[in-house]
Amino acid sequence: DAARPELLQTGPMMPMIEAQLSQHFIVHRLDAPDAEAQLAEAGGRIRAIATGVGSTAGGARRVTQALLARLPKVEIVANFGVGYDSVEVAAAAARGIVVTNTPGVLDDEVADLTIGLLLATVRRIPQAERYLRAGLWPKGGFPLSPTLRDRSIGLIGMGRIGQAIARRLAGFGRPLAYHSRRPVEGLPYPHYPDLVALARDVDVLIAILPGGPETHHLINAEVLSALGPTGILINVARGSVVDEEALVRALKDGTIAGAGLDVFAHEPNVPAELIALDNAVLLPHIASATHVTRNAMGQLVVDNLLAWFDGRGPLTPVPETPVPG
Ligand code: NDP
Repeated sequence: DAARPELLQTGPMMPMIEAQLSQHFIVHRLDAPDAEAQLAEAGGRIRAIATGVGSTAGGARRVTQALLARLPKVEIVANFGVGYDSVEVAAAAARGIVVTNTPGVLDDEVADLTIGLLLATVRRIPQAERYLRAGLWPKGGFPLSPTLRDRSIGLIGMGRIGQAIARRLAGFGRPLAYHSRRPVEGLPYPHYPDLVALARDVDVLIAILPGGPETHHLINAEVLSALGPTGILINVARGSVVDEEALVRALKDGTIAGAGLDVFAHEPNVPAELIALDNAVLLPHIASATHVTRNAMGQLVVDNLLAWFDGRGPLTPVPETPVPG
């Protein structure tokens, strides 16, 4: 036992992760009833943190500066998910702590779901299915829907997943453009340094960029108004990137036509106003949620921790992380 490093798990994780963690580490739980006592007793020995359950619950920062201050020996924070906005990464970096995430293994899965949500929203697929199930078809056909055929599409974020979405969209034969801080070399799509200008020029916006303070409410009333009355917003990024109140207003008053959302500001709570709207398609943060992909993500969490304590360095450190010396 003396050889096993001590690790803090911030909440429930997949059984395949928990089984491996308990095999290789002495695990303490932040969600245990006696968490305070565990922290007080073991805080000085804990060398690793495992966090994230696939949803960041509204950007709640589970690995905070305050928590790290109580754990002076922590060397690594392994986050489940490519998005790590639940970790105060600057505070971790300042303490020389390595943060890892799970990039790459979920790109195609998330891109597939994004296409599904896009089509569901534009063609009103869930609404049509509800119509059939409600027995309304014999009374008349489902109302005609908007189309993707006359739309141009703007991606907000053109990283690993954005490019996987763009590859799929190429098959749809619709014009594509994107916004990010820097253009991506070698891509044929127009780059917009200004998000409002992109919103003005396209008919669909798809958000696939990180959450956190830098992108908080990037998609605000001004952007929605620029997107316009036939516009559709798809958000598979983080709830925090959209001003949710402004979005509800825009959907209610026809500022935009519809929205497809996989993520929300205060997960798992979705505003009743949003649920009441027929022009919104709402999913419970499922973009990466398949057995195959979640297992691959889980294994990468464990493998990052094992590689670190084997002296092989982190496998997938986030860009803000200090280079291990
Ligand atoms: P990458 O880091 O590969 O790409 C991020 C993209 O966002 C880049 O194009 C980057 O370009 C852009 N970006 C970053 N900051 C800003 C900013 N302030 N303003 C404008 N653009 C910005 O990430 P991934 O593609 O792997 O993942 C993207 C995000 O998707 C994750 O961080 C996560 O939050 C979310 N996600 C959601 C899932 C879900 O379940 N719904 C599943 C998986 C991921 P540049 O740096 O040039 O600005």
